[in-house]
Amino acid sequence: MRCREKVLYTNGNIVTMDADDSHVEAVLTCGDRIEAVGTAAELRQLTGPRVREVDLQGGTLYPGFIDTHSHLEMYAAWIQYAYCGGTDTMQEALDILQCHAADHPDDPVVMGYGYDDTATSDGRGPTAQELDALFGNRPTLIVHISIHAAYVNTAMLRLIGVDPTKPSDNVEVVCADGRPTGLLTENMALSAIAQLPPVSAETLKKGILVAMEKYNEQGLTSTIGGGLGLGGLAGNMSLQVIGELEREGKMTVRCHLPIFSACYREAKAAGLLESPGSPYLRLHGIKILTDGSIQAFTAAIKDGYYLQPDLRPDCILTQEQMDELVYETHAAGQRVIVHGNGDAAIERILLAVERAQKRCPRKNPHHLLIHCQMASDSQLERMKAVGLEPSFFVLHVWNWGDRHKAIFLGPERTERIDPCASAVRIGLPFSLHADTPVLPQMTMQSIHTAVNRISRKGELIGPDQRVSPLEAMRAYTTYAAIMTLDEANRGSIEPGKLADFVLLDKDPRAVAPETIKDVAILSTISGGKAVWGKLCA
Ligand SMILES: [Zn+2]
Repeated sequence: MRCREKVLYTNGNIVTMDADDSHVEAVLTCGDRIEAVGTAAELRQLTGPRVREVDLQGGTLYPGFIDTHSHLEMYAAWIQYAYCGGTDTMQEALDILQCHAADHPDDPVVMGYGYDDTATSDGRGPTAQELDALFGNRPTLIVHISIHAAYVNTAMLRLIGVDPTKPSDNVEVVCADGRPTGLLTENMALSAIAQLPPVSAETLKKGILVAMEKYNEQGLTSTIGGGLGLGGLAGNMSLQVIGELEREGKMTVRCHLPIFSACYREAKAAGLLESPGSPYLRLHGIKILTDGSIQAFTAAIKDGYYLQPDLRPDCILTQEQMDELVYETHAAGQRVIVHGNGDAAIERILLAVERAQKRCPRKNPHHLLIHCQMASDSQLERMKAVGLEPSFFVLHVWNWGDRHKAIFLGPERTERIDPCASAVRIGLPFSLHADTPVLPQMTMQSIHTAVNRISRKGELIGPDQRVSPLEAMRAYTTYAAIMTLDEANRGSIEPGKLADFVLLDKDPRAVAPETIKDVAILSTISGGKAVWGKLCA
């Protein structure tokens, strides 16, 4: 139970993000809730002697940021493995993995993650033979940065039932010269990940604490999960550990966790979907994967890849399978949280939701389309009509924008990836995400990218899709709150809502747009308690 202490925050620029876009001078909280907003003088009159005053020292206070798609529990479980991202060459990544393997000689599986093949000068990942030469018979995998592919050695191929000496009929086992290369995509990559030994509750608990600190450091106080049951983690374990941390008063990020479609029926039968949840943990909806990732060459793109126009991967689910899953969830009054990157995948999702709405009309079902990278304006219009809301991975424009132009999509289609401004024009609220561990949380860079659309190489990508700083801030606050299905309790600084805040050194809406990324996050408050930064006691 949190103490019912009253706290008065003064001497700051408090941006409430309410409907009138009010800025106030002070906010009064009581326990984990906001009691009143107004001038410092007004609020001092409301309080008795038991108020603690917090001087914001001229900083800018916003509602706590909400990320609408990331894999906090998977990230927490993977912190113990080798991070192979951010390398300029394949050799560097292999060196990192080799050190990790030497430091953990008893690990039954050698595991690295975050490897970004097209960001290295090699432009590819290691083959099974290259991994064999370094790791021998120890089953080894390096998960691609997208989490939609993995590079494995011969021992791992054998472990997941793939004959390393013969070509495979399965398109998810990439073959060359009559045998598997070691590159696996989608479900086959997931089956290699499933070979990781179960994570102990203790390890997961430690990992979640570290992960939450990283989120808080970025001003985040809520997140929508990427699908319980993914990433070699038992869903129940995550629920148990988060529940324990909450009872111990250690949760600092509110988690909304959808259940991965493969585990849905089981969870439904166990009555999990009906559970009301708690302040820091809510289960809702079903997570469906429709296609893969553009940068892993597994997204369903209508006209194929720029350098390989004949490469047109299928969606993971057929239209019939998709229709059935979406209808079942929709008709049960639940929401679908559905991953779709390529335009062909978005089309399949839209058709399924349109059909479900026709059979069972529901007002504002708040279904959520994760990534939604290649949506056209007409697809966004149709999304609005059926209550399907977009969460864009706008950091793509910055991190992969140059490669989208040169390798994956070509200049024309790259211009309109993550069409935030189209959503604004159409009147469709949008939110943003970092898909951690795909990218680390970096909220100011994400807001900066939505406003400026500048790539890593400094190129302006799709100026028509730039949004105002206000819209970008709404994407992390009020709009994202709608998508948590809990806007009554979060997203703005208004009486009755949760006391979740982020303190910035400057207002991103008042600085030169090209400097938004330099705005510093000074402190994060969750449920009335400073959980990160300078306001911590
Ligand atoms: Zn994801």
